Amino acid sequence: MFRAASAAVRATTTATMAVAPAVTARVSSASKTSATTTTTAKATAAASATSAMGGNRLVAGGSLLGSGNYANGGNVPFAVHMRSSANGNASFGGMTGQKRFATGWATTALSPTSPFSATVGLDDEQLMFYETAAAFAAENIAPHASKWDAESIFPKDVVHELGNLGFGAMYTSEEHGGSGASRLDAALVFEALSMGCPATSAYLSIHNMCTWMVDSFGSDELRAEFVPRMATMEALGSYCLTEPGSGSDAAALRTTAVVSSTDEDVYVLNGEKAFISGAGETDVYLIMARTGSESGAKGVSCFLVDAESDGLSFGGKLDKMGWNASPTRPVIMQDVKVHKSRMLGAPGEGFKIAMKGLDGGRINIGACSIGAAAASVGIAREYVLERTAFGKPLARFQNTEFVFADMAAKLRTSRLAIRDAAKLLHERSPLATSSAALAKLTATEQCFDVINSALQTLGGAGYVADYQIERYLRDARVHSILEGSSEIMRLVTARAIFADQ
Ligand SMILES: Cc1cc2nc3c(=O)[nH]c(=O)nc-3n(C[C@H](O)[C@H](O)[C@H](O)COP(=O)(O)OP(=O)(O)OC[C@H]3O[C@@H](n4cnc5c(N)ncnc54)[C@H](O)[C@@H]3O)c2cc1C
Repeated sequence: MFRAASAAVRATTTATMAVAPAVTARVSSASKTSATTTTTAKATAAASATSAMGGNRLVAGGSLLGSGNYANGGNVPFAVHMRSSANGNASFGGMTGQKRFATGWATTALSPTSPFSATVGLDDEQLMFYETAAAFAAENIAPHASKWDAESIFPKDVVHELGNLGFGAMYTSEEHGGSGASRLDAALVFEALSMGCPATSAYLSIHNMCTWMVDSFGSDELRAEFVPRMATMEALGSYCLTEPGSGSDAAALRTTAVVSSTDEDVYVLNGEKAFISGAGETDVYLIMARTGSESGAKGVSCFLVDAESDGLSFGGKLDKMGWNASPTRPVIMQDVKVHKSRMLGAPGEGFKIAMKGLDGGRINIGACSIGAAAASVGIAREYVLERTAFGKPLARFQNTEFVFADMAAKLRTSRLAIRDAAKLLHERSPLATSSAALAKLTATEQCFDVINSALQTLGGAGYVADYQIERYLRDARVHSILEGSSEIMRLVTARAIFADQ
């Protein structure tokens, strides 16, 4: 479905875009999709088609990319939408307005000759994923991201639109409405969306992780009931592993799921989860709870719990440094009854399932850091070309050049690590888990450094919300903490290194 949408968007916009060669013949592999488009006309027809699931998941009119020609630095969609302040007209030493800084967002990521290029080396299909997401971010996310951040708004309407694009179940099988895309395709989408708002893109990653877990480990009935609604993002997911007493040491969790004394088909859940993204606003909670008497990972099972369940409640929304567009709350379970049919996998398999979900989650979060860094670098590049000191543009100082070269090295190696890990996970390589950990470590740490360096090149302006980089910095900071901190990523890597001992 998504592929059809992408093809349509791309085909109907190639006339106005010089960014990449037109795709006039794209034949999807039969194993991946049934949507095959060979001409613009066919693709356009596909764009107005209604999905097999009954919902129109396609983007009407192919207008996502607008009329801009951003390869030529012309009417850049990003440029228009990066203007988020009330007056959009801050002035620092001759720099007026933000539009000029914002153009860099697109040019650095899309220029085929820039070491910051996000798209060189991608095949046509991958390019479509990236471009569709980038265009959506420019059109529907970037213009609002500062407000969502400042006012802690979870943009549910936009999230639902992402579902309409087929982004709710990207690497989930197509049987119940997933897009059947590769892990790399998905990573490209998370990266591109993060150029608008890392927090929104990261929530989408968590939702995708949940959808994939339900589809991969749920019974056929459970999959048929939940995956279609999760794929369209009519039902939003939350992943519930962390507890007040166990974060990095997740297997020490204490939430219990005990067979009911009155109905042996029902489990009764008691406990508390901490730091749950989306909690209080989402519909489906994947809760890891202890069913067995064994301590550690072996006694843990994974349950799908409806938001409406009696006994399920939420603590107050956390006041955070960043990720303000993604609500974080405790989830409290007091005698929550869950039918045994809502267990994913078998009793005792929950921890393994949770970790498998995180392999993908870690790649996605790393991709979100890359998008945030790419956006920051673009803004910084425009700034140093314009801003003068000691009689010349900042860009002409060798220190500035070296800072940008270092940022390019960090961003490029982050991309390579994330994309490599995505391919290995897709291929189910034995290196998949440690590569995901290494890639997350690399990308989240290095890209945070890149954003911080980019901020520094703007001087005082970098510290000002109008220029956006401080938001990317605050959002990206948590990527080295959640879904396994950098220290735990080192632990996972080291375990793989010494596994044979
Ligand atoms: C904004 C936000 C959103 C989140 N969303 C979710 C969510 O949706 N679902 C969910 O389940 N969780 C979520 N989390 C929780 C997150 O995954 C945990 O915060 C993270 O795993 C770290 O756990 P902790 O906070 O308990 O830190 P701790 O485990 O207490 O660790 C504290 C410090 O000690 C270090 N440390 C711990 N063990 C070791 C070790 N063996 N060796 C070296 N250093 C170590 C850690 O790296 C860290 O620096 C979220 C957290 C945040 C901040």
